[in-house]
Amino acid sequence: MSVPENRLRIAVQKNGRLAERSLDLMREAGLRVMKGANDLLYRIENHPIDVLRVRDDDITTFVADGVCDLGVIGLNVLEEHAARRNGPRPEVVMRLGFGRCALKIAAPAEATWQGPEALAGRRIATSYPGVLQSWLRERNIEAEVVELHGAVEVAPRLKVAHAICDLVSTGATLEANGLKAVETVLESEAVLVRAPGGPPEAHQHLADVLTDRLRGVVAAQGAKYIMLNAPRSSLDRITRLLPGAGAPTITPLAGANDAVAVHAVCQENVFWETLEGLKGAGASAILVLPIEKMMM
Ligand code: ATP
Ligand code: MG
Repeated sequence: MSVPENRLRIAVQKNGRLAERSLDLMREAGLRVMKGANDLLYRIENHPIDVLRVRDDDITTFVADGVCDLGVIGLNVLEEHAARRNGPRPEVVMRLGFGRCALKIAAPAEATWQGPEALAGRRIATSYPGVLQSWLRERNIEAEVVELHGAVEVAPRLKVAHAICDLVSTGATLEANGLKAVETVLESEAVLVRAPGGPPEAHQHLADVLTDRLRGVVAAQGAKYIMLNAPRSSLDRITRLLPGAGAPTITPLAGANDAVAVHAVCQENVFWETLEGLKGAGASAILVLPIEKMMM
């Protein structure tokens, strides 16, 4: 990477669900993260990059204003920011494959759900009033949105609201509070964002190199390298069974006329069922290996 005059700045969550994975991602992209005395700013030792560690709600503001060139943030936080604030918004560069959750409407478990129209004239408690309001508007539903910043899931029991709109991953919190998810407002995961219009000229090259590396890191997650032996006659069946594989490499096996070795990169996880299917189709000596790095 070339060395621009000043340093590229990336905003990540300081504490919380995305914090550790965001730093891991930087490390996997080859950045040596130096935890310094300054808790707010970590320096990257081997590149002119600083990592700014802040509350996730502030990341969008920093990236939207160009104070940071890049940021790692939940799509839910980005969408809420966009719904509330006019003006330039951070651009999504790529999905990062972690921090998966969904913003869902949940209602008391004992009541039968009659569809979104049942929310008309009702009160809904949420920390995401912006996203919820646009979801309601798209469906022409008029409901009262009550903004809460913690313990949203207790609102129905306290009679503060009839329903809630909250982030759900396993649903255990809802269940513990006598609620059930009834509608999905937004599917979310961590995303890499960049300043509107991209970083300034001086940071462009470094930002592009880092983005390419991160793309490789994300692509390698879950991807597997698969090797097996197969009779030529089963090649068609076997290739069709390989999950998310491009054109496999086929090489002859020494001393065997009708058998070949098949090597392929599978973009999806390879399950035991897939291996059993491959074996059933005539494959043998099947190996599945993790992929550490990938550059497309
Ligand atoms: P901060 O102190 O930075 O403001 P926070 O309390 O707002 O943190 P966290 O609870 O750390 O946020 O969640 C960060 C992000 O993790 C969420 O915005 C969301 O994108 C993602 N996430 C994944 N699973 C869940 C979940 N079950 N509940 C809440 N957030 C989740
Ligand atoms: Mg927050």
